Amino acid sequence: MEEGSQQKTIVILGAGFGGLSAALELGALKKKHRSDVRIVVIDRNDFQLFTPDLYEIAAATQHVESEEALKKAVCIDVRLGFAKHTIEYLNTSIQKVDPKERVVYTESGEIMYDQLLISLGSEPFYFGIPGMRQHSIPFKWVNDAISIRETIFHTMDTHDQVHIAVCGAGPAGVELAAELRMMCEHHLKNRNCFALTLVEGKSHVLPQFPENVQRAAEKRLKSLGIRMCTNFVIREAQEKKIISTDGRELTADIIIWTGGVKASSLLEQTQLQLTAHGQVDVDLSLRSKQYDTIFVIGDCAQVEVSPKIFAPMTAHEAVHQGPIAAYNMFAQLRGNTQLRTYRMKNEGFVIAMGGKNGIVVLPNGRLLTGFFGFFARKFVDFRHFQTVLPFMQACSFWYNGVKTMMRND
Ligand SMILES: Cc1cc2nc3c(=O)[nH]c(=O)nc-3n(C[C@H](O)[C@H](O)[C@H](O)COP(=O)(O)OP(=O)(O)OC[C@H]3O[C@@H](n4cnc5c(N)ncnc54)[C@H](O)[C@@H]3O)c2cc1C
Repeated sequence: MEEGSQQKTIVILGAGFGGLSAALELGALKKKHRSDVRIVVIDRNDFQLFTPDLYEIAAATQHVESEEALKKAVCIDVRLGFAKHTIEYLNTSIQKVDPKERVVYTESGEIMYDQLLISLGSEPFYFGIPGMRQHSIPFKWVNDAISIRETIFHTMDTHDQVHIAVCGAGPAGVELAAELRMMCEHHLKNRNCFALTLVEGKSHVLPQFPENVQRAAEKRLKSLGIRMCTNFVIREAQEKKIISTDGRELTADIIIWTGGVKASSLLEQTQLQLTAHGQVDVDLSLRSKQYDTIFVIGDCAQVEVSPKIFAPMTAHEAVHQGPIAAYNMFAQLRGNTQLRTYRMKNEGFVIAMGGKNGIVVLPNGRLLTGFFGFFARKFVDFRHFQTVLPFMQACSFWYNGVKTMMRND
């Protein structure tokens, strides 16, 4: 900090969407104010997983040879992003936080902090459905996507017919189902050998979206030959079978779970009070209501943006919250009590719908569909890469991803 004062440390837990955007903002503030604050980012991975394109990995055709090539398309090397800042990166697993002593415990030792940012993301959540964890493949991490792909290829090679059930028709489930349908079309000569059912407890797919978006998505899914099994509230999963609360049974060779996520269970090791959804309740400055020294963002944070309206668990919000939390932590260290306030920005949404097809939901609620949707998605992806990577690396990463996708299509 200021000359003569003791060096302060800001520790960021997680280098995902929220953590990385916060770290880069802190790096810029440090430079601008010629501060000597120490910034330490801790993550068990040395990459940021670009989840919006994860469906492309699960559905990558056999043209993509190696696991390494698949990972290269969605794993952003965070160290490249830190190159122009003095940010320390610790590649290790976090174990717990002691907020009273201001210590983070990791597999590689302890680290003290003056300000802490928690951005540890989320994990699959099964709503206590008996058997679902054991009998389904989650769709959350890069290894899940690779496991889905391998299981599908193996099943295709050993069975005459393949039936996949994707459980949960939010954006991740819809995108995955649409792309898997395209992939199987390429892989199988007889498309009748393959069936894909998208299972949803509510009456329409994309239940959290307006009706016009649901209609457009259902039209496209239908045209791809995907069965939609709505109003199917899953009561239980067994081997190759799911059963609804009203007793219907659906059998499938492969069951994929896209039905829900919850904040990282590591939060239970922080002594912070958690909400019913397992998140940390923060105010609009993104600061914990218990400790002034702790900020929480992304999937781990419950932010009430207006009465009973909470920020959604999306990369878009995490990236938007990161710089605000960064500014506020930096301000607090400098003794500035004027903190910035987070407000949700409606910038629209893009949902990939298989192949070079997508649905763009504009901020005014209007829709653009088809190839334009795909193009918009690629543009949004590039915008993100450019904020976390130097320009040339962003271009190269984007190109790598597009190459994988082109092979898929
Ligand atoms: C398949 C899929 C598709 C999605 N598509 C979209 C989309 O198109 N648009 C969108 O806006 N959102 C999308 N999301 C949601 C988005 O990925 C999350 O909301 C976002 O990642 C949250 O950011 P975060 O910073 O909170 O957590 P993350 O980005 O998940 O980062 C958390 C980080 O913490 C690290 N970590 C966790 N535990 C430990 C530990 N014990 N030790 C060390 N490090 C640890 C992880 O390695 C990770 O790097 C998608 C999610 C999924 C699963």
